[in-house]
Amino acid sequence: MDVYSDIGNVKGIGPKMKELLNCCGIFSIIDLLLYFPRDYENISYRNNIKMATDGEKIIINCRFLKSEEQFRGKSGKIVTKLMFTDGETIFYGTWFNMPFIKNSFIRDKDYTLMGKIKILRGELSLNSPIIIQGEVKKEENLIPIYPLKENLKNPYLIKTINYILSQIKIDENMPKWVVENNNFVSLDKAIRNIHSPKNLSELNEAKRRLKFQELFSYSLKILMLKKHLNEGAKGIAFKISKELVNLKEKLPYDLTAAQSRVIREILIDEKKPIPMNRLVQGDVGSGKTVVALIALFNVIKNGFQTVLLAPTEILANQHYAEALKLYEGFDINIELLTGSLTNKKKLEVKEKLLKGEIQLIIGTHALFEENVVFEKLGMIVTDEQHRFGVKERSRLFNKGENVDVLVMTATPIPRTLGLCVYGDLDISTIDELPKGRKKVETYYIQQRAKDKVYNFALDEIKKGRQVYVVCPLVEENEKLELNSVEKLVEQLRNIYFKNEKVEMIHGKMPPKNKDEIMKNFKNGEIDVLVSTTVIEVGVNVPNASVMIIENAERFGLSQLHQLRGRVGRGNYQSYCILVSEIKSNKVKNRLEIMKRSNDGFYIAEEDLKIRGTGEIFGYRQHGDNGLILSDIIEDAHLLIEANKEAKLLLKSNEENDIRLKNDILKKLTLSSKYICFN
Ligand code: ADP
Ligand code: MG
Repeated sequence: MDVYSDIGNVKGIGPKMKELLNCCGIFSIIDLLLYFPRDYENISYRNNIKMATDGEKIIINCRFLKSEEQFRGKSGKIVTKLMFTDGETIFYGTWFNMPFIKNSFIRDKDYTLMGKIKILRGELSLNSPIIIQGEVKKEENLIPIYPLKENLKNPYLIKTINYILSQIKIDENMPKWVVENNNFVSLDKAIRNIHSPKNLSELNEAKRRLKFQELFSYSLKILMLKKHLNEGAKGIAFKISKELVNLKEKLPYDLTAAQSRVIREILIDEKKPIPMNRLVQGDVGSGKTVVALIALFNVIKNGFQTVLLAPTEILANQHYAEALKLYEGFDINIELLTGSLTNKKKLEVKEKLLKGEIQLIIGTHALFEENVVFEKLGMIVTDEQHRFGVKERSRLFNKGENVDVLVMTATPIPRTLGLCVYGDLDISTIDELPKGRKKVETYYIQQRAKDKVYNFALDEIKKGRQVYVVCPLVEENEKLELNSVEKLVEQLRNIYFKNEKVEMIHGKMPPKNKDEIMKNFKNGEIDVLVSTTVIEVGVNVPNASVMIIENAERFGLSQLHQLRGRVGRGNYQSYCILVSEIKSNKVKNRLEIMKRSNDGFYIAEEDLKIRGTGEIFGYRQHGDNGLILSDIIEDAHLLIEANKEAKLLLKSNEENDIRLKNDILKKLTLSSKYICFN
């Protein structure tokens, strides 16, 4: 039997079963061997069935005595009843609709059965027991529990996988030195033991090896992707424009050391004749926008067109305004392209783009449309990249030839993991806030202390500041008793802010109105802006000093940090007040983290611990990246190790071409589930 052969070739798997397995994504033998248990049940071994209690799951050695009459039960199922003895007590095994089961037993032979005890009117029986092959440990018996889809049954999987394992030997596929360096068990042993571990330590050894295998493949894939991007494509070698000096002189502030360093890193990339693929991560308020605008400026001055992509219209508009201001006097044409433009305006912009009359286009998803065509695209910057999928971004990427790509995020991942997770990108970190920023003071309070909060906000308004109030939902949801924006606005206008201007903004509003309100808030015409999370990312109003978050328990930590980042952007002492009806310790602990720390990295780490990776790296869902057993955060130490070994492997093959490496890759990975280039 070859591990890559069709699952239908296995003795005992008929066309129907084959179809069922195919439905569950199992096509070849290896697919089935990689269908790992989701858990294990530790089942007690009994010498003596009399000791067992009703409903208990047991394993017992016994002798087959004879078949009883087969009959139809009340439900219409065929009941097969066989008689066994443990040497002392007679008991029965009963199976439903499995008349052939009796052929598995030979009279007066010994078997090991596993099943649930049923005691009825003094009669002992095991319901649908499984025949356990091989030796049984007296202490631990870990029975695999498989993820069950469709009509797949656990006993069937146990039986079939055990049968295959008895017929097959799996070749080692990792370099010998990797196995030896890490003291791994062989692949063959690992796969055997994950399906039928004799004890916990065997199981853990198997898991360690297989997790490493996943992470190793994953690292290899990312590293090769990066190499491929760097080597395969010839990029544009931009020159360093003399006008950069003039641009920097125009800035109303000095760049922070971190900003300057990151700009330098980017400009070095721009000069190289290979496409840039860089991630800039920096906490909220660290000044990423100006870094992007300077990077784009240089490309523009080389005679190329550029793109700045933002996840929301509000942000696109804000960037547009900032770019207009900064580029003023440099003869650069900047345009906006967002969903809310009229069709006429859109067409006009597109035409200009095609003719090369626009040097910087700032926009949202509207930029992905197929009829957005450039004359000469040189660079793409994506702001708040975690808001976009990889596929979306690559759609833009294809609009130019080997353009430089820069992505920016304020949702950092723990430092140690950066390279591994974003391994296909080079990383620059702005790890410093502009001078003069004061730490945002953070409090959390209960609903009933609300008066105090809003009176405090009123004092701030009287000092000339502005206030954000954020709540989670637009429409009233009585069940959850959340404050809807509308209701809240009404309340605030009637109770706390009788003479102040209170406005609201939410996702369901037409973009035009949103922009209008944002503009007025920026101009200081609105004192209190009540909103849903549409203001979560990027919005910059330095005069705002209070952020009140209602139902704070409904937000993730990273999201709260983003929201808090809307204040403290100027020189004023700012405040973030988390309002919550704190009931559970969990909520309390989470909000305590916010109080304790202003460090986005730290908060992201804590967030990861609480929520897991899936929610945070939206597109890199668990399983999607071939990580079935392992988790990037939980298994961080293994990932770092795997990354190291993967690098060594790639190095040892440096001169070989990409095809050879793909071969290595194929050999290293067990099935298509583990890896694919797409
Ligand atoms: P983010 O990194 O969150 O996107 P922004 O780029 O929106 O941050 O910048 C936040 C604010 O800081 C803006 O008002 C911007 O003009 C200002 N800023 C950026 N760099 C500096 C600096 N070096 N010194 C002072 N203020 C700065
Ligand atoms: Mg920003």
